[in-house]
Amino acid sequence: MPASRNFRAAMSIGLAAGLALVCTPAPGSAQPRPATQPVAEGTGGAVVSDTAESTQAGIDVLRRGGTAADAAVAVAATLGVTDPYVAGLGGGGYFVYYDARTGKVSTIDGRETTPAADGAEMFLDPATGRPYPFETAVESGRSVGVPGTLATWERALRRWGRFSLADNLRPAERVADRGFVVTPAFAQQTQQNAAKLGHFSSSAALFLPGGRVPAAGQVLRNPDLAATYRQIARQGTGAFYGGAVGRDVVHTVQHPPLAQGAPIPRITGPMQLSDLRAYRALDGTPTHLDYRGYDVYGMAPSSSGGITVGESLNILGTFDLARMDRVQALHHYLEASRLAFADRNRYIGDARYVNVPQQQLLSKSFAATRACQIDPAKAGKSPVAPGDPYSPGGGCKTVPAASSDSNEQHTNHFVVSDRWGNVVSYTNTIEQSAGSGITVPGRGFLLNNELTDFNFAPTQGSAPDPNLPEGGKRPRSSMSPTIVLKDGKPFLAVGSPGGATIITTVLQVLVNRLDLGMTLPQAIAAPRASQRNAATSDAEPAFLAQPTTAGLKALGQSFTDVGPIGVAAGLEFLPHGRILAAGEPVRRGGTAAAVVSRR
Ligand code: GLU
Repeated sequence: MPASRNFRAAMSIGLAAGLALVCTPAPGSAQPRPATQPVAEGTGGAVVSDTAESTQAGIDVLRRGGTAADAAVAVAATLGVTDPYVAGLGGGGYFVYYDARTGKVSTIDGRETTPAADGAEMFLDPATGRPYPFETAVESGRSVGVPGTLATWERALRRWGRFSLADNLRPAERVADRGFVVTPAFAQQTQQNAAKLGHFSSSAALFLPGGRVPAAGQVLRNPDLAATYRQIARQGTGAFYGGAVGRDVVHTVQHPPLAQGAPIPRITGPMQLSDLRAYRALDGTPTHLDYRGYDVYGMAPSSSGGITVGESLNILGTFDLARMDRVQALHHYLEASRLAFADRNRYIGDARYVNVPQQQLLSKSFAATRACQIDPAKAGKSPVAPGDPYSPGGGCKTVPAASSDSNEQHTNHFVVSDRWGNVVSYTNTIEQSAGSGITVPGRGFLLNNELTDFNFAPTQGSAPDPNLPEGGKRPRSSMSPTIVLKDGKPFLAVGSPGGATIITTVLQVLVNRLDLGMTLPQAIAAPRASQRNAATSDAEPAFLAQPTTAGLKALGQSFTDVGPIGVAAGLEFLPHGRILAAGEPVRRGGTAAAVVSRR
């Protein structure tokens, strides 16, 4: 885009004297970069997260006697420094926790909410009465939901922590103060987001110091974020949900700090301090289903993750995938998610605002009516129609079809376990990579664009669309933090980023591990494809190169090469207290797995 290129050139001159946040590492300045490895095995607890620093922060907390919840807060806060384009104080997420004392799985819904003053018409351009172009809506105050991340941390610590919030923020403060070494993956993400970040003066100053993308090997510091964490540590979460930090958030949403000459319109949001004061992270009950003797727990609405992964598994549970040849197994995997997505799009939204037939969608009888739609000899023709969960008794019933929505992708998922056997599966996000592109000036974190996860206009024809915006409502998510128990004890914890592909990535990892005979590291590394009730399935180049793909095409499956899908992280609980921690060997530059003790 020529406009952005010119703009970037102008900006690099304008910022030449900007904040000097980047330098080459001086001895003793940045913390030495902890080793990154995608797989680790041992005892005493484990962490898998996107960056070496965040994994190390979690391991350090576990070693000092913190619980999985304590370590999760340390990991998430550090990701706010080292993975700022996908997570942080400006976003939200879903926290799933297995409590070893009670044997129960519980959830916290930390999804962003819509400001009270906004609603149905928020994404309509008043000048035309038509929806804003998607990218225009993203880079605006209008897309920013009331952040839920800090409230989630507070809630998790109150329920399951041993240490204070201040204690658990300290490792992140240190990394933000001293800086971290820019990885090739970070440099690439900055490059990909350079135009968007350059549109806002505060983001350009923080992430493009001197008007340039920091090179791999340089050190990036974020003293503003360190100071924000310290203020929250001193004053408590009230500093954010009503206090000085919150005031800065609200001011930024109402007055997005557009850089001079930025080629985008200034669209403000109506967020008020009262929206922040009213925000609550919600305790909840997970979705649950039995899949071949495993108890699979996931995230209930406002995320569609738990129900859609669950319905897909229920459909697949009616077939013996392990005995099928690989082409048929993959064909059934694709067909199950094709059908489940039709139901997701028709029936799932924020359950506090729309009636979600969760029990019915997760019933075996409903799954049977969907499974019988699968033709082993032929791919379904999308958009396939949703089923009717309200009267699932009568065979292969469907209701009229409508087109589906789409989703952007970029988030992070991490997993933690501790010496007591507690387990965290936590996906958190600011929605798109770099969120709205808007950094809160002087605060060191980006604001989300989560509200663009709503449908801007109805997608379901004459049927009601469950995912339209409304004041206070949470946009439908696809995040699918999952914990699997076997005989009441943790067996797996898994999740991934990737917008709507999160659901299929989690599903595929589970199928790979539980049905197709792969180890957890293999199940995560395996090539991925994602079918979401669309004419073609998204696929990774490595999936397309597999010998099975010709067989799938012969059945009418078609694929679009979309590059990497998801960035999964998982734990498997082995006999004798051993833990297998597995991340990505290649995707997003490889992720970091570690255990408390290698013995
Ligand atoms: N906003 C997305 C969701 O809630 C997650 C962002 C992503 O992974 O792209 O489903």
